[in-house]
Amino acid sequence: MSMYFGEKDKDESDVAHINLDQECPLCGYVMDAVTCLTDKPETSPSEGDTTICASCICPLVFGEGLKLRKPSKLEQRLFDTDTAFQKILAVMRRVKHEAGS
Ligand SMILES: [Zn+2]
Repeated sequence: MSMYFGEKDKDESDVAHINLDQECPLCGYVMDAVTCLTDKPETSPSEGDTTICASCICPLVFGEGLKLRKPSKLEQRLFDTDTAFQKILAVMRRVKHEAGS
């Protein structure tokens, strides 16, 4: 499973940005691009890959036809028990909190 970031304004030339134009199914934020977080030279997400909404900082899953959807109960439980993933969420929430409000 690969993970993608819902941001594109990072100046990291070695990171692949994938254009996307979808609303977050949770908050409606339009994600215009995602960034692959893995080292693999992937250029596009696959079904079942994960991303995080840059607005509500919630995990989302690329479902059928790469349409973003909410995680299933099972996927949500996997996210909740994945300490590395929870650390990423915590960092993103802190960054957003410090940058925004
Ligand atoms: Zn959202």
